[in-house]
Order: sequence, then C-alpha cells, then structure tokens
Amino acid sequence: MSSSESLFTRALQLIPGGVNSPVRAFRSVGGSPFFVKAAHGATLVTADDRELIDFVCTWGPAIHGHNHPRIKAAIAHALEHGTSFGTPNPSEVEMAELIVSFFPSIQKVRMCNSGTEATMSAIRLARGFTKRDKIIKFSGCYHGHSDSLLIKAGSGALTHGNPDSAGIPAAFAAQTVVLPFNDPTALDAGFAANPGQIACVIIEPYIGNTGFIQPDPGYLQHVRAACTAHGALLIFDEVMTGFRLARGGVQELENIVPDLTTLGKIIGGGLPVGAFGGRADIMNLIAPLGPVYQAGTLSGNPLAMAAGIAALQLLDELNPYARLDALGRQLRDAVLAAARAKGLPVQVPQCGSMFTIFFADQPVRDYDTALRADATRFGQFFRACLAGGVYLPPSAYEAGFISTAHEGAAIDRACTVLSRAIKEL
Ligand code: PMP
Repeated sequence: MSSSESLFTRALQLIPGGVNSPVRAFRSVGGSPFFVKAAHGATLVTADDRELIDFVCTWGPAIHGHNHPRIKAAIAHALEHGTSFGTPNPSEVEMAELIVSFFPSIQKVRMCNSGTEATMSAIRLARGFTKRDKIIKFSGCYHGHSDSLLIKAGSGALTHGNPDSAGIPAAFAAQTVVLPFNDPTALDAGFAANPGQIACVIIEPYIGNTGFIQPDPGYLQHVRAACTAHGALLIFDEVMTGFRLARGGVQELENIVPDLTTLGKIIGGGLPVGAFGGRADIMNLIAPLGPVYQAGTLSGNPLAMAAGIAALQLLDELNPYARLDALGRQLRDAVLAAARAKGLPVQVPQCGSMFTIFFADQPVRDYDTALRADATRFGQFFRACLAGGVYLPPSAYEAGFISTAHEGAAIDRACTVLSRAIKEL
C-alpha cells in the first residue's frame, strides 16, 4: 500500500470522507486523493515522493507558486514577533491600504478568515443597509458554505451532487432568489417578481466554480444597472478572481463599480484569510460604528497579513498578468489542437491564469450548459493527466489555476502530458 493509500485509510476512520474539504475528494473522477507533504514553485511532492505539476494552486491562492521565498520570509519575520495579539496590529493597516489601492471601489475594508465569512458578512451588511431580506444569486456560483448561499451552488456542492445542501431551513432558502447566469431577462423578471424586496445581488463576475465561465459582453453592465434601478446593492464575489485576473479583479477588466466586494485566497498568501469592503457609507454600518455585527478572534492575524502583504507587493512589482495570460493561452491552444486532431468536441474557456477543459460540443455559458459537458470523459482525462504527472482540479466543474512559477519547463511539459492524454482518450 502506498503512503497516500495508508494515510487515506486512516483518515477515512476519523474525518468524514477522509478530507477536510469535499473538493479534495476524488469521488467524481475516480480513485482516492494523494497526500502532499511539500510543495514548491509549480510542483507538489506527494507522500510517495512523486512530483506533480500543480494546476490547482491551493484552489487559487498560490499565484506566485508554492512556498515563494519572499512570502516564506515575510511569515518567518512576523513569527519572530508573535502569532496573534487580539489587538489591532500594524500589518492590518498596511493590508487595508494595499487592498484599497488595488480596488478603487473599496473605500473601507474588514478582514476576516475565509471567503465564506466574507460573503456571509457582506450579505448581512447589505440586508442591514437596505433593510430588505431577499437576495439574488446565480445558479452555479459558489460563495462559500453559509446557509443563504448553498442553494444551486457550484464547486464541491455541485461536484458531489448537493447543490442545495441539506440542513438549510426552507424559510432561509425562501429568502434566496436563484436565477440563471448570463440571462438579463431572467434578472429583470427576478427583480419584478420581488418588488422592493431584494437587498443585494451577489455574483461571481467571472464564474470559477462551475468550471470557468465568462459572461456575455454587456451582461455585467446590465446587472449593475438593474441593481441601481431597484435600490439593491451589487456584491462582486472576487474571492477567486480578485488579484488573479487583474490587479483590481474583474471589476477592473469590466470597468464596473460594485457596491461591495468580497476577497480571499491570494490576499492571504496561502494562510487563512478573507475580506469584504466597499462604499464607506455602507461599511460604516458595521460594528462598532453601526448595528450590523461582525467579528473574529483571529481576524487580521499578523502571520496571514504578512503573507498576504508580501503576495500583493510581489504582484505590484512583477505585474505578471500578461505573462500569466500567455501561459494560459499556451495550455488552451495545446488542448484545442490535440482535440481537433482527434476530432473530439472540447471547450477551453480561459482568461489569464484561469481555465477549464469542458468535454462539450457547445460553448459553456451557465450552469445548465456546464452540466451537459461529459463528466465521465473528464474523469478519464484527469486520471491520464495525473498518471503523466499533471494535477488538474479533481472535478469537471472547477477552474484550473496557473502561477508565475509554471513559466518555462512546467508549462511545456504540462502541454505535452495534456495533449497525450487527449490523444489516448
Ligand atoms: N467565493 C468564491 C468565489 C470562492 O471561489 C470560494 C472558495 N472557493 C468562496 C467564496 C469561499 O471561500 P472559502 O473556501 O475561503 O470559505
């Protein structure tokens, strides 16, 4: 038995499904997960000493690759001074200044410990601000695992067949209006059916959690205008896309000003973190200034702040977005060429360092079209890539991520492995 198999056998006895987050399970692609004992650059080292080129990048945070020397040094330096103070600390101020400089729509920001906390708190704030109860979300968008948001959710909830989680009271679910993504008419109808009742619209502006899906031109502008017209706040959930697709996320690419933005992943440099921010008049409603309560024992944790500040400073220095997009295109073009040679229908939506390989004959533009992609074939493809030393997200409905550390040999080898895997399907 390999070390990973033996660890997984032990894990299954004590941890539900053997994993601390369902997206790590391999149930939808077959086999059992490998355990990782170390990671550096674009490489994961498994418990069995296999080296894999990693396109999961810890599900987004590792835009500079794993264990980047600058981030590691920043954590080590912070560690000299203590791990948590329970008081304000200087690095929180520096982090807030950095976030505000990257995201002009954010005037004030509150740190928390995960993307889930960020979206949950932003929704509470929107309800407190508008004094309305209902929210609109889109099918296939995943915003973390708080009650209001696990309805027609993407990511692991979709992969494992629980887009509507059990355990959510019907009375809660009734407050969440779920609409199809990329459908302006449905949004207008959603507002019309709930007049004066919608506190906010929360959206992954480019979806990463049903696989990678971009909106049609003009769609996000329509969403912005509809929110303004109906007095609802617009929340851009940029936990995945923030700092990844551009310095200032999708809102920079699309030139849209949301009222609130949720962030996570990259701003923690690989340590647990989340943040939400936006218009000062809205953010001023949060305790202790206002009546909307939100808190966290470890929020603004000095180690997480140090790691995140180093990650953001590196982005500022390197401005890696054009390079990352070139790597993304290289991968996409290799897959498309191999699929064309084989006569296999495949769609590879890609923007910058995010991509998904859908085995589908039609473009994927929402939850329903994503579900039409061939998940069984994806499983075969995933296993062939893994056998060749390339780790893709273990689900047909997740985005892959590229880091600056993939440049050169790693991306070249990955293109060869992916092309061969397609050929052998
Ligand atoms: N929002 C989005 C867009 C996400 O992709 C995720 C996690 N993948 C979350 C929220 C939740 O973040 P976390 O897992 O840190 O709670």
